Amino acid sequence: MIDSRHDVIIIGAGVVGLAVALEVTRRFPRLRLLVLEKEDSVARHQSGHNSGVIHSGVYYKPGSLKARLCVTGAAAMIEFCRQHGIPHKVCGKVIVATEPEELPRLEELRCRGEANGLTGLRLVGPAELPEFEPHVSALKALLVPSTGITDYALVCQKYAELISAAGSTVLTCAKVTGIRRSANEIVVETRRGAFLTNALINCAGLFSDRISQMAGDIPTAKIVPFRGEYYDLIPERDSLVRSLIYPVPDPRFPFLGVHFTRRISGNVDAGPNAVLALAREGYRHTDINLRDLASSVTYSGTWQMARRYWRDGLAEWHRSLSKSAFVRALQRMVPEVVDNDFVPGGSGVRAQAVKPDGTLVDDFQFVPSGNVLHVLNVPSPAATASLAIGKAVVETAAKLFLE
Ligand SMILES: Cc1cc2nc3c(=O)[nH]c(=O)nc-3n(C[C@H](O)[C@H](O)[C@H](O)COP(=O)(O)OP(=O)(O)OC[C@H]3O[C@@H](n4cnc5c(N)ncnc54)[C@H](O)[C@@H]3O)c2cc1C
Repeated sequence: MIDSRHDVIIIGAGVVGLAVALEVTRRFPRLRLLVLEKEDSVARHQSGHNSGVIHSGVYYKPGSLKARLCVTGAAAMIEFCRQHGIPHKVCGKVIVATEPEELPRLEELRCRGEANGLTGLRLVGPAELPEFEPHVSALKALLVPSTGITDYALVCQKYAELISAAGSTVLTCAKVTGIRRSANEIVVETRRGAFLTNALINCAGLFSDRISQMAGDIPTAKIVPFRGEYYDLIPERDSLVRSLIYPVPDPRFPFLGVHFTRRISGNVDAGPNAVLALAREGYRHTDINLRDLASSVTYSGTWQMARRYWRDGLAEWHRSLSKSAFVRALQRMVPEVVDNDFVPGGSGVRAQAVKPDGTLVDDFQFVPSGNVLHVLNVPSPAATASLAIGKAVVETAAKLFLE
């Protein structure tokens, strides 16, 4: 039995699904749109467990979707926060080189940022750096003035509010359990009923590959979950950090490297690291989901990745299990911090698409299949870029099946 019929259904009410939905309401106000979310509120997973940084776009390969959508998305995010009174701040960040071999990579980052259209990037030496971050010790630092901070859970709530105000529905507690497709129509079965649609957009984050399989498609990569853990800097010591302090990233894993973030709430935290999670929504070491675990350990991509990067993986586990190792990584940038300055903080789980040969899918990936569009890889900076991703996904869907 069908409960209702919709022109478009979106699965997932994280920052990406909601931004796509918002764009549908703006571009196609007459379409009947339904967003299905398994949790009882929006932003319960990656979108509510992140660093809250509005990334500038300095890291990403020029011409990539990440680079283009991050730069335009960051500007759109700042404007959105301003328009809707969401707390945010363009505080800038410093990327610091502490070893001589990092200096060429820092210079490369400056070139990359400029190629991506960023302005105001500047390399500074130890004499000038204290003006920006007085407690940082570095050989050189790259100043990135356009980086900002916000709270993406609040952004998601506002997206949902605007979607509802436009007459569409965000249905929570509606886990998608089955998808049946015929030539033109799709039936989406959920814990709250079955819904008929002509167009389906999969924005299920950590479960986007499973939804893709449910829709009868074979994803070219599988989601491997990586937990990122944070420590909070105790308030008595948070004057050691003014805004955002990042190490020079390893070009193979731009998401690795613990950093300091002054949150929009004013607190400072440090992290996240990246360890293989034993559950897709496993926020603690002890969280294990047998299906998720089996899915990771029986996947060739996980083993190939482990074979290639086992050293880096072990170092991340070491930092996860040993607070001193975690703090040592931070002391490279701010030598004054000590173990007692930190208390355990929150965590988040990243959805990283990994190919069967162990390669991490680097760029955002939107994969069409008939009247279904799968958003299969939207790791950081997807929260920053969400409004631009929304436009890009709806543009793709419009060409394929909405217009
Ligand atoms: C630790 C960490 C730090 C990060 N820091 C930043 C940062 O500072 N800046 C930045 O720009 N990005 C950052 N990111 C990345 C960013 O948070 C994510 O890229 C973004 O939130 C992805 O959004 P999403 O909507 O795809 O996923 P999610 O937020 O995970 O949303 C997917 C939704 O789908 C729902 N869902 C899944 N399966 C089903 C089903 N069967 N039925 C119905 N609903 C379902 C889930 O419940 C969930 O709500 C960070 C990520 C992490 C984990």
